[in-house]
Amino acid sequence: MNLRLRSRMALRKPGLIALFDVDGTLTAPRKGVTPKMLKFMQDLRKVVTVGVVGGSDLVKISEQLGSTVINDYDYVFAENGLVAYKDGKLVGTQSLKTFLGEDKIKEFVNFTLRYIADLDIPIKRGTFIEFRSGMINVSPIGRNCSQEERDEFEKYDKVHNIRPKMVEVLRQKFAHLNLTFSIGGQISFDAFPQGWDKTYCLKYLEEFQEIHFFGDKTYKGGNDHEIYESERTVGHTVTSPDDTLDQCTRLFLDN
Ligand SMILES: [Mg+2]
Repeated sequence: MNLRLRSRMALRKPGLIALFDVDGTLTAPRKGVTPKMLKFMQDLRKVVTVGVVGGSDLVKISEQLGSTVINDYDYVFAENGLVAYKDGKLVGTQSLKTFLGEDKIKEFVNFTLRYIADLDIPIKRGTFIEFRSGMINVSPIGRNCSQEERDEFEKYDKVHNIRPKMVEVLRQKFAHLNLTFSIGGQISFDAFPQGWDKTYCLKYLEEFQEIHFFGDKTYKGGNDHEIYESERTVGHTVTSPDDTLDQCTRLFLDN
């Protein structure tokens, strides 16, 4: 270990990590990181261990935080930690395909498509199921509807509870798979194994006694809620990247 690195390590608070959501916390929603934030994170890393946890895949996270992201942070968790990097190296992967296996996935897809086929709603388009590495996204109207059709479906759903009713049926039918269902956006819901929210990444952070998590969607139903509420973390709600910067300055740098 070189001297510079050793002095940096010595300065860093052992057992403490600052962990950040990406969208809305380190960057404006769906935007790239600013030079100001990049510089701030480099300075913060001299004082504490830093990590990021995003719901998107590594490609998307790299677009937002930069192509050197896995080396810029001590930990990078893509897809909530289903893809995990530590010190620039891949330390773990998990996927729905591996976890559930093809038979159970097929059972779920077949039942869901049949349910949608029997569903009497005003409009149907295409792409009713989208299979992702960490979740299955189900849309009764179909994902390739137009924006206008989306808006219409959302209104229709509020009156007729198409999604809540469907989730209830799937929850009972597939109780043995221990899935979590999350209704989000206008036209779809997600199904994923219990615990595959952002708390999933905490299994890589067992050596830390103090995990400070910063996120913008910490309210119930938001994608930062579970990790924010977890007893393993100290949760911080932020309103913007600038707010993240302010709160971190006060917590870690002002002394
Ligand atoms: Mg966010």
